[in-house]
Amino acid sequence: MGKVYTQLGLLIIRLQGTHDGGENRVFEILWKTRVPPKVQVLGWRLFLDKLPTKTKLLARGTYLQHSLCEFCLECEETIEHLFISCKES
Ligand SMILES: [Zn+2]
Repeated sequence: MGKVYTQLGLLIIRLQGTHDGGENRVFEILWKTRVPPKVQVLGWRLFLDKLPTKTKLLARGTYLQHSLCEFCLECEETIEHLFISCKES
């Protein structure tokens, strides 16, 4: 997943400071950035806070053995943890 994370990082850097422009501006930047469509979709879902992390799945009642991050197995799997604070991802 390293390459996807790098491409997603590029998107996030381009999106920083665009929140004032609203969703339309973020959408425009996402679709103009030269990354594979799957990375654009991942960026859009990240922006909308729609990624199905284990923490969210458990909150919705999905059965899981645990909600820990699969990379480090130390912290709850949240978007913030996966994309920012996980030392293994
Ligand atoms: Zn982790």
